[in-house]
Amino acid sequence: MIAIDNFITGHTENVEHLLGNPNFRFVQHDVCEPLDIPESVDRVFHLASLASPIDYLNHPIETLDAGSIGTRNLLELARRHNARFLISSTSECYGDPLEHPQSETYWGNVNPVGLRSCYDESKRFAEALTMAYHRTHALKTTIARIFNTYGPRMGLNDGRVVPAFLDQALRGNSLTVFGDGSQTRSFCYVSDLVEGLLRLVESGEPYPVNLGNPNEMTILEFANYIRKHVDSRAGIDFRPLPSDDPKIRRPDITKAKRVLGWEPKIPLDQGIAQTVDYFRSRIAPEQLANR
Ligand code: UDP
Repeated sequence: MIAIDNFITGHTENVEHLLGNPNFRFVQHDVCEPLDIPESVDRVFHLASLASPIDYLNHPIETLDAGSIGTRNLLELARRHNARFLISSTSECYGDPLEHPQSETYWGNVNPVGLRSCYDESKRFAEALTMAYHRTHALKTTIARIFNTYGPRMGLNDGRVVPAFLDQALRGNSLTVFGDGSQTRSFCYVSDLVEGLLRLVESGEPYPVNLGNPNEMTILEFANYIRKHVDSRAGIDFRPLPSDDPKIRRPDITKAKRVLGWEPKIPLDQGIAQTVDYFRSRIAPEQLANR
């Protein structure tokens, strides 16, 4: 296993526990720069992206580059090594969807020039480039459309809703709900997602496959769930809704079940408990509300 990261949003601590493993090697590199790997490579997973709205709004050009130049470099790497290739795409390909739940055949409702467009269009371009390599070079490519995923090792200041709510609740601060909280999301635990990615890359299915948990809830319901889960007495602080924030999102995973025999296994209570343990360990004890 060779992991590559330029740490634009990642951290060395996330791979430190693997550094002593003889089957693991780490390379600090930006996938937008050309790269070669001296070892033989049989699978390439292109997961490099700024997935948090705060991060991609701060780095829109790097986000577009990771989806375009980065995808091209990693497709070329896969081609040179005759390796299978997986691109991590996104439910953002469906934009603010007019079809619910979203199945892979839906073409989406994306604003191509809005603030989120740097992320959405980089992934839509990455999908198109991946299909072009598949059709032109007969490369064994796969496309994962990943829905909201959470778990340990997310950054505390990542800005996405799971770390934001957990950090706020554990410190006894109010939870920042954007808009009226009626927008919906469906949260998948990271180990379920990883299992889906591993199955997908072996499947040979070139067209997109949704990977996510269909357990949908409103953001306000989720905020109250987190408050209850960590026994927080702090309230809710309603803030303006970011532009183009999708109003509804839930994956139709019929295809993943059929093609991969995959569906999420970790219930929200268990996934959140494991994530809370991680976040609690990252916050200084004197800053925790319930020590
Ligand atoms: N959100 C929120 N409060 C926060 C962070 C996010 O209410 O502190 C909302 C956000 O507006 C969106 C949902 O939670 O409707 C999920 O946001 P996230 O940034 O996790 O990812 P997205 O699904 O928008 O890519």
